[in-house]
Amino acid sequence: MRRATIAGNWKMHGTKRQAHDLLQGIKDNSQTLDHVELIVLPPFIFIEQTAQALNDSHVAWGAQNVSNQEQGAFTGEVSASMLAEFACRYALVGHSERRTIYNESDAVVREKFSRLQASNICPILCMGESLEQRRQNQTQAVVQRQIDAILDTQGVSALQDAILAYEPIWAIGTGESASPEQAQEVHSFIRHYLAEHNAKIAQNIRILYGGSVKPTNARDLFAMPDIDGGLIGGASLESDSFIAIANAVSPD
Ligand code: PEP
Repeated sequence: MRRATIAGNWKMHGTKRQAHDLLQGIKDNSQTLDHVELIVLPPFIFIEQTAQALNDSHVAWGAQNVSNQEQGAFTGEVSASMLAEFACRYALVGHSERRTIYNESDAVVREKFSRLQASNICPILCMGESLEQRRQNQTQAVVQRQIDAILDTQGVSALQDAILAYEPIWAIGTGESASPEQAQEVHSFIRHYLAEHNAKIAQNIRILYGGSVKPTNARDLFAMPDIDGGLIGGASLESDSFIAIANAVSPD
């Protein structure tokens, strides 16, 4: 049985005060959400504040990125072991904004993935196609290549302690979500592809959908059999909408 998961990617938003209010709002309104794993992913600079605010709650926290290096002269980078010191349980890797704006290759994403696992942090591996790739019918090939970056080098067992997030680039921050059917089709493809490597891991792995999830479309997306929750950007910046999205997960 896969636990539904709702993760909020704050990106580079907010002040200390706004982070405080958002964390308080999430904490105060998450008590009845035992059936959902809630995760917040603030900017690095707010992680300590987040850890203090959520310490006595059942909301987990993590990071939006991590260095592919262990330590050393890498100005501006933050290592997995540093994240572990602040009790980060999760971190995103391969978000499309990292892949496209910062040119992160599959090889770098794979290095980040394994650095996280070496520090006992669960990677949330993001993948998804551009609009152009979808139009050219390359969605499955793109997603498969992004998973293969892990499978080919670390084997399927590396996915035992990982979460996947399918995030079509054309749906991120655009207000235009994939339809539940479009998302389900790709989630099902991912699960079937993994099943060719290991049926149990394929059955157990959580696959989140991300891309313009809102309180109004969350229920239909989460009702799909292979969608195990959401990675939420814009709508995670207000506790009311983040909690409303979590409440769209059916309790059974
Ligand atoms: C994201 O950046 O991971 C994301 C899904 O953003 P949004 O919900 O704003 O589309």
